[in-house]
Amino acid sequence: MAANGSKTQSEDWTPSSWKSKPIKQIVTYEDAAAVSAALTKLSSLPPIVTPTEITKLKAGLKDAALGKAFLLQGGDCAELFSYCADDAIDSKIKLLLQMSLVLIWGSNKPVIRIGRMAGQYAKPRSSPTEVVDGKEIPSFRGDILNGFDTSARHVDPERLVSAYFHSATTLNYVRGQLASGIADLHNPLDWGLGHVRDKDLQAKYQKIVHSISDSLRFMRTIGADTAGQLQTVDLFTSHEGLVLEYEQSLTRRLRHPAASPQIQASPDGKGWYNTAAHFLWIGDRTRQTDGAHVEYFRGIENPIGIKVGPSMKSDELIRLLDIVNPAKEIGKVTLITRYGEDKVETMLGPHIEAVKASGHVVVWQCDPMHGNTRSTEAGIKTRHFSSIFSELSSALKIHKQHGSYLGGMHLELTGDAVTECVGGSQGLEEDDLSLNYTTYCDPRLNEKQALELAFLVAGHYRD
Ligand code: PEP
Ligand code: MN
Repeated sequence: MAANGSKTQSEDWTPSSWKSKPIKQIVTYEDAAAVSAALTKLSSLPPIVTPTEITKLKAGLKDAALGKAFLLQGGDCAELFSYCADDAIDSKIKLLLQMSLVLIWGSNKPVIRIGRMAGQYAKPRSSPTEVVDGKEIPSFRGDILNGFDTSARHVDPERLVSAYFHSATTLNYVRGQLASGIADLHNPLDWGLGHVRDKDLQAKYQKIVHSISDSLRFMRTIGADTAGQLQTVDLFTSHEGLVLEYEQSLTRRLRHPAASPQIQASPDGKGWYNTAAHFLWIGDRTRQTDGAHVEYFRGIENPIGIKVGPSMKSDELIRLLDIVNPAKEIGKVTLITRYGEDKVETMLGPHIEAVKASGHVVVWQCDPMHGNTRSTEAGIKTRHFSSIFSELSSALKIHKQHGSYLGGMHLELTGDAVTECVGGSQGLEEDDLSLNYTTYCDPRLNEKQALELAFLVAGHYRD
């Protein structure tokens, strides 16, 4: 106990203290020896990410919380092991880069990029089982636990180790490609706007692209690249911290970077870092204040996200912030709001005011995907582009009204030409969904829809 009788963040906390708390989305493994072997293996493997990188991201998120930077986070709903392939990774890097350039142009702020990738392998499910072809079988819980194929639905502990290697391989390739110039802004980018049917809209987007290209050309010409900043960019990784035995095995006591603010606060200069990803978030289904997931999250140094859905009460939100961030570190917590286009108007304002009154300074990030999932008459899960943009524009407007900032957006997207969400300039309709519907969980924006959303958000700032 601290002198004033209150608990400090790390008191009573260990990487395994979550085990004494009630847990949602529990995983029941059949073969205890195999689980133990997998976790022992994971505990011996090196960190995938480092405290220096994590601390750098934290500094960026502090800026986002203060309105000085914008956070773009995006990737698949359920990342599969098979997405660990060069084309899929390249297209995602390029898409996030292009979107970020558009957002920098629009917001006049640096953009922090975080992929929902290199580890987004675990999915919470509303039901542990589903009926397929008249047979009740376990639900797909993400590649880290079981396989989508109906013959692979049993939980296999070896997948925990496989998740580590697919994460590490994905991030290795991302780092290699960034270092080799995939994000080198000296090279012209292919913006491919041919699909935009509306001529006025196409002219508007072209104007933005010209403006971005002109600025880049100007910087190259005057040699304004002394720090090599046009040659490469940062791309951080993130996933939902759902399978706690996996997260625990990759949680290590490591030295804080020499210049970090944390170094003063810790007697041995060390802290507990989750080394599986730079950023982790707690899902809307596992955010109970007395639950296992919140217990795990309160002890790690990484910046963290909390999904905030329509059932979140203001007092509960503040209790959560007090638990995971008692020191009120600015930008440590990103609140990922996902109310739905019809609920954002009534829910966001009171949450902003409650957080303001509590003294916490968070990154407010809008996830316009998860509150806007609908089923077509044919029973296909989809999202309307217009609902997604509507929640985003409401969030921008409401933050402004409350003297707050929208610090970022959180999207489910892919660099591929999928047909999972309807709408956008391509004019995708419900009948088109079957053309290339390949998601294994929620519907994602395709590369054209994602880029268009960036144009629209940027336009919002400029108009
Ligand atoms: C997700 O981000 O894929 C997800 C499951 O979201 P939420 O926890 O907000 O429902
Ligand atoms: Mn999802």
